[in-house]
Amino acid sequence: MAELPLPVPDEATAPFWEACRDGELRIQRCTGCAVFRHPPQPMCRQCGSSEYEWTAVSGRGSVFSYIVTHQPIHPALADLVPHLVVLVELEEGVRITSNVVECPPDEVAIGMPVEVTFERVNEEITLPKFRRV
Ligand code: ZN
Repeated sequence: MAELPLPVPDEATAPFWEACRDGELRIQRCTGCAVFRHPPQPMCRQCGSSEYEWTAVSGRGSVFSYIVTHQPIHPALADLVPHLVVLVELEEGVRITSNVVECPPDEVAIGMPVEVTFERVNEEITLPKFRRV
C-alpha cells in the first residue's frame, strides 16, 4: 500500500518539526516588527528583517477555509476519501494547512473553533492536526 508523502525538514523548517515532535506548536515571529509568519521564511514580508525567533503559540484557532476531496489525489488516500483538508487561522493570525481529526467532512464549518493535536508518524515527523473544541 502506498504511503503518504511526508514533509522533509530543511534548514528553515527543522525547528517547526522539532517543536511538533515535542508536542508544541512554534511559529516564526519577526523580532523586528513582532509579526508571526507561516510557513517559515528567511525574511519578514512586513519589515524586511531577517531576524526572527520561534515562538510557542496557543494552538487554538478556527477553520478559515476547507476542501473535501472525493477523488484520491495520491494512492495513499484511496481509503481515506472523502478527505477533509482545512486551512486553520490561528489566534496569532497565521494560517496553517492541516486536517481536522474525528470530524466527518459534512460536519466541518467555516469559523469552527479548533485546537492543535499532534499525530506522530515516525521518529522524525509528527504532524500538527486539529480537533474541534
Ligand atoms: Zn518584521
